[in-house]
Amino acid sequence: MTDMASRYARQMQLPQVGSEGQRRLGAARVLVAGCGALGTVVSESLVRAGVGVVTIVDRDLVEWSNLQRQTMFTEQDARRGVPKAEAAKARLAQLNSGTVVRAFVDDLRASNALRYAQDADLIVDCLDNFETRALLNDCAVLRRVPLIYGGAVGLEGMAAAILPHGGEVRAACGGAVAWSDERSTPCLRCLMPVLPAPGEVATCETVGVLGPVAGMVGAIEAGLAIRLLAEGAHRVPSMLVRFDFGAMRFASSSLHGARDPDCACCGRRRFEELSRDDDAREVRVLCGRNAVEIRLAGISPSEVAAAADADRVAERVAERLRSIGSVECQRHGDTRLIDLVPPDAAPVQSSSSSLGMHRLRVLIGPAGAFAVVEGTTDTERARSLVARWLGV
Ligand SMILES: [Zn+2]
Repeated sequence: MTDMASRYARQMQLPQVGSEGQRRLGAARVLVAGCGALGTVVSESLVRAGVGVVTIVDRDLVEWSNLQRQTMFTEQDARRGVPKAEAAKARLAQLNSGTVVRAFVDDLRASNALRYAQDADLIVDCLDNFETRALLNDCAVLRRVPLIYGGAVGLEGMAAAILPHGGEVRAACGGAVAWSDERSTPCLRCLMPVLPAPGEVATCETVGVLGPVAGMVGAIEAGLAIRLLAEGAHRVPSMLVRFDFGAMRFASSSLHGARDPDCACCGRRRFEELSRDDDAREVRVLCGRNAVEIRLAGISPSEVAAAADADRVAERVAERLRSIGSVECQRHGDTRLIDLVPPDAAPVQSSSSSLGMHRLRVLIGPAGAFAVVEGTTDTERARSLVARWLGV
């Protein structure tokens, strides 16, 4: 028995997979958008199942509050504030050396989403906000690749495989999973034409989430992805699965006939989220973290694409920050993390360099550079601190 046959024996003996399904999995490329509670479960399952290439995009750092449910991260990751995408990549490399894992410490935006999605045969939504979900939906409909949707909050969860409409796009894109327009499902915008405003819906930040509930949603998403890739779209029923673990109720409803032919996205093919101006997202308040993230537009991705250049830029940033406080430099995969810690004792006297209670982290990697200012949600204050500390 070859290594591959023994490694995947238990899934290859399933009629749904077999040796042909395993071959398809090995040739597949999947984009996992977000690497939190859902993304850790999904990416681990896909890598263990032998998917050929798994691309993970997540901009967050591992925190203590993640460890309760985000299965791949450790206390050491939280202590060091390792970027989730890099921590996941390091762990996944130990699980299956046959899978190529690509990690990007970045947030999905209109200007980069298609780049990350361009060679994906399938996209898995492991996000926590509707705005970015809608952006992924645009990518999936535009390229006509399956989008696996999932959400978990409190004790409730739901998941579905979206097979976008638009048969004529098929030939141009040529992905690994094929289906006819008769089998297409509603897209996310058919189901939700108007996005909820921030704060309008319950989130894990506001009401919490049971770890295993998020794990169940991640497991359903991974299972749908594996089945679509191994079996093909015609064998997987198009259902929306919902459950309420509080009441122990599990239900599924068919997605057939639920498509809105007049949907702006999959009907009229208007990709509103992809056409958005990115500028508004250069500065973001990180909900629940009392922190503000600022993209450092002065450091372009091309400037730090080569490792030696990224090292040089990171050293320049660290050198500048050493005049203000204690600086720790770490490297995780392709990402450099520069951590400026305020002195524990009295604040620095000079008002021009005072850190107050703030802590600054700068991340530099192939996706460009970000600064995260902790201890405030005031974007203007964060901007002015970054301008003062980094001179950008
Ligand atoms: Zn639609």
